[in-house]
Amino acid sequence: MAGKPILRVLSWSGGADSTASLILDHMLHPGYDEEKIQLVVLSEVMFDRNYFEEGVGISAESPEQLRFIAAAKEVFEGWGYPVQIIRHETKDYMTHFNHIIGRSSGTQGYAAGFPLAKACALQRDLKVRVVERYLRDLSRENEIYSCIGYTANEKSRLESMRTNNEKGIGYHCYSLLAENGYTHEDAMRLCEQHGLLSPVYKNIDPSTPDRKIRSGCWCCPWAKVSEQAHLVKETCHGAEVFQKFVELENRTDIAYKNWNYKTHETLKERAKKVIQFIDDYL
Ligand code: SF4
Repeated sequence: MAGKPILRVLSWSGGADSTASLILDHMLHPGYDEEKIQLVVLSEVMFDRNYFEEGVGISAESPEQLRFIAAAKEVFEGWGYPVQIIRHETKDYMTHFNHIIGRSSGTQGYAAGFPLAKACALQRDLKVRVVERYLRDLSRENEIYSCIGYTANEKSRLESMRTNNEKGIGYHCYSLLAENGYTHEDAMRLCEQHGLLSPVYKNIDPSTPDRKIRSGCWCCPWAKVSEQAHLVKETCHGAEVFQKFVELENRTDIAYKNWNYKTHETLKERAKKVIQFIDDYL
């Protein structure tokens, strides 16, 4: 009896490493062959899925990144790669924030509050697990090869990928970048050469010049002032959404009260910087 057909799927985040993985796949497999990626999947973290009404939500992705994702999706589809954007069916930043803590010492009965900067539950629950579930569903009918944008110098991630492959997690993971010796810098260069480097990487933030360039949620403790300023200035409900976000700090029923446990910057302090940034640069 014939086995299941092989399906190669790229987990895409919109960041440089996973974007470069697809560019590389396109370069290595210009026509159809069975080594070629056949599907691209991106899990979008939502800030509030039901902000306006049920199902009409506010994304946690920055407006610039959402524009980039839409434009890159068109390019990828033009190259023949279907792109699926998926979301958790029920959870978002706000459901995490309002989740009531069960058995625990001291915080039982409180809402969880702000996610921890170092061990973000959103990354785990709203990105990684959503994609994992999606791949496991596909693996019922297909033998899944999941391409992940790990770079050649990410030794510990590559090692845990190998361990998971040996253990067996329902599908096989591989990294095209690592297989071809690409570092993060190479990935950035490849994206740039193809006009597919997200503008968030070029978005120099004069107000926080020491902050590492990143792509991620505007509500993240690592978000730059500039990302939040763009949200406030460029989206029609951005100012209102950001104000509601800042007000979360006033809640007295939450266990984790600090937006940023690393720098201890408060959201009220951040909001002042955002206003200043808009006055100075936008
Ligand atoms: S960008 Fe920040 S808030 Fe968003 S999932 Fe990643 S760590 Fe969590």
